[in-house]
Amino acid sequence: AKSEGRHTARFFDEALKEETRLRWRLSRDLEGAVERGEMSLVYQPMADARTLRVIGYEALLRWRHPELGDIRPDQFIPLAESSGRIDSLGLWVADQAMAAARGWPDHAIVALNLSPVQFRQADLAADLLALAERHGLAPERLEFEVTESATLLGHRRDDVLGALRALQDRGARIVMDDFGTGYSSLGNLRDFRFDKLKVDRSFVSAMLDHAPSASIVRSIAALGESLGVPVAAEGVETEEQLALLRRWGFPQVQGYLLGRPERLESVLRSAAYAGMI
Ligand code: C2E
Ligand code: CA
Ligand code: CA
Ligand code: CA
Repeated sequence: AKSEGRHTARFFDEALKEETRLRWRLSRDLEGAVERGEMSLVYQPMADARTLRVIGYEALLRWRHPELGDIRPDQFIPLAESSGRIDSLGLWVADQAMAAARGWPDHAIVALNLSPVQFRQADLAADLLALAERHGLAPERLEFEVTESATLLGHRRDDVLGALRALQDRGARIVMDDFGTGYSSLGNLRDFRFDKLKVDRSFVSAMLDHAPSASIVRSIAALGESLGVPVAAEGVETEEQLALLRRWGFPQVQGYLLGRPERLESVLRSAAYAGMI
């Protein structure tokens, strides 16, 4: 048993080294990945819960590594954040998505995820607004999804709030993403005016067979209503989930049931099919 333990320890040690090597490699290979054409965007529809009409699309980043294949954003975004590459990558995403949105119906929203790290750039808001202007996109069509950690950058808190406010002043909307999972959600709600709360997928996935998750989702709907802030649910995969969310008054839904993230060509085909364009 003793030698077995040693083997196990060695196995974990090796696995850890392997993991570290992989992270190091991915971090290195991120450099120039955009220029080599390895990055692309997919777009997932956001729908009106009542009519199920598409109201816009969330841009989600994809990386196809030439040797390792598809790398999940959960894996490479943190590496882009720690290496500082997220700044240029984030602006590239915004540029691509805004260019894509020119082919969408006039009213369709473009939702972009912003990394907390991007707020270190003093001119983030100005850069994003300049991009929108260059693409002839009214800021009213833009939604910026920030996770709760973005509002918790300690001493940077005022800078973050300032950037968010600058975007809002021009008509863009700020969405609190993954709502319910962050630390101090309610403090953030109190100190800053969000235009939408997006309930985290983990609660939606669990709500049918986990009563506490259902209570949380339902309470968030009530909270949104009393604050006058629209709520959206992500990760909606079943009709049962949709029915419950509608009953609880969620105005917006998103998830595989409504549509998976798709390449721009497919988005345009389905929009044309639905008579949107
Ligand atoms: P997120 O912003 O919470 O995005 C939702 C994630 O859930 C996406 O994963 C989406 O593909 C997935 N999803 C949507 N509907 C369903 C569903 O019904 N069931 C299930 N199981 N999953 C669903 P994805 O694309 O892998 O992105 C993961 C995370 O990576 C995102 O979470 C976001 O935090 C981050 N990310 C993606 N693109 C960007 C980007 O351009 N910039 C930044 N900063 N972060 C990004
Ligand atoms: Ca998001
Ligand atoms: Ca989310
Ligand atoms: Ca997330």
